[in-house]
Amino acid sequence: TVQAAVRDTAVFDLIAQEEGRQRVGLELIASENFTSAEVRAAQGSVLTNKYAEGYPGKRWYGGCEVVDEVERLAIERVKELFGAEWANVQPHSGSSANLAVYNALLEPGDTVLGMDLSHGGHLTHGSPVNFSGLRYQIVGYKVNPETELIDMEEVRRLAHEHRPKMIIAGASAYSRRLDFAAFREIADEVGALLFADIAHIAGLIAAGVHPNALPHAHVVASTTHKTLRGPRGGVILSNDPEIGAKIDRAVFPGYQGGPLEHVIAAKAVAFWEALQPEFKEYAAQIIKNAQALAKAFQDRGYRVVSGGTDNHLLVLDLRPQGLNGTKATKRLDANDITISKSTLPYDTEKILHGGGIRIGTPAVTTRGMKEGDMQTVADLIDRALKGEDVKTEVHAFAGGFPIP
Ligand code: PLP
Repeated sequence: TVQAAVRDTAVFDLIAQEEGRQRVGLELIASENFTSAEVRAAQGSVLTNKYAEGYPGKRWYGGCEVVDEVERLAIERVKELFGAEWANVQPHSGSSANLAVYNALLEPGDTVLGMDLSHGGHLTHGSPVNFSGLRYQIVGYKVNPETELIDMEEVRRLAHEHRPKMIIAGASAYSRRLDFAAFREIADEVGALLFADIAHIAGLIAAGVHPNALPHAHVVASTTHKTLRGPRGGVILSNDPEIGAKIDRAVFPGYQGGPLEHVIAAKAVAFWEALQPEFKEYAAQIIKNAQALAKAFQDRGYRVVSGGTDNHLLVLDLRPQGLNGTKATKRLDANDITISKSTLPYDTEKILHGGGIRIGTPAVTTRGMKEGDMQTVADLIDRALKGEDVKTEVHAFAGGFPIP
């Protein structure tokens, strides 16, 4: 093995430590998952040695015949997965995919309507500390204060008032379905482009357990490493070849040099896996688990934002328990339960802390947990939040479920 031959023991010791941490803990970060051994083998392959600036058949470097085939496979598979006519598999991450979309389709100063960060949007949807917020005029839509759901009439009102050039449908901490058809209707009313950022829900869409963005959005971007269970990376899709051509130029030579062909190979493997029938069952189980977990928390007296979930995550409001996101994360971390803190819609806590936590089921579902196991997960979290030491129980419970 690589490990037996290594001289740099410092790094490989740390990798072994991290593997141990992942094995004994309960991984409930909504944006994380466990990749297959095949995905990791492709990513750790000799393809990392290869420069391949450009696109298949149009490279700046020699010797690209093989990586051309790898990249073509990734493109064809992801097009099939999402029913897309065009795809770019080169973005190094979700944020850089979004950067390419904006660079291709917007001018600095243009108005963009996206989901407010504290209501569930992503940094790249217009946070004032991110390039998106610095470069564009951002208008944020919020969820309805009573239902905590995206209010499409409010989105419509803001779109008509501000006439954005682009509307973003997508979120990082929203537990309900996105109505891409309704977003498109509003975009058409004001002559805006609809950009769907499906980073979190890509695996659910690929499996058909969340409505697809593509028949509606002009352009779609995603990460490949969340519910889609591939390597860390990004992808951009469209059914409009003119938009595709603009985005291809925006990625290379617009802001990237050589693509990561080893990561693209791992993406191709993950897309193949997501095309298999077992992936549909996996994605359906992610949602069943999230719903079982939400119910288990409600039964224990917790308030779940929007009253439940239709996808892979739920947000708990911990203010009634006298906690905030920071305090809760600390208590759970001490028990090897990993989640992320979350701001709440109309939060009364400081943004730095957030009034709650975001919990996701993609990773524990990959380990084989089912609805009944969510009772144990909720119980362990509940007791850890109350200050109990449940670490040994967490290790024993998690240890019963294999990691690929
Ligand atoms: N878009 C959304 C909706 C996300 O949730 C994320 C990551 O959390 C990203 C984009 C950015 O992805 P990355 O972390 O790969 O840059």
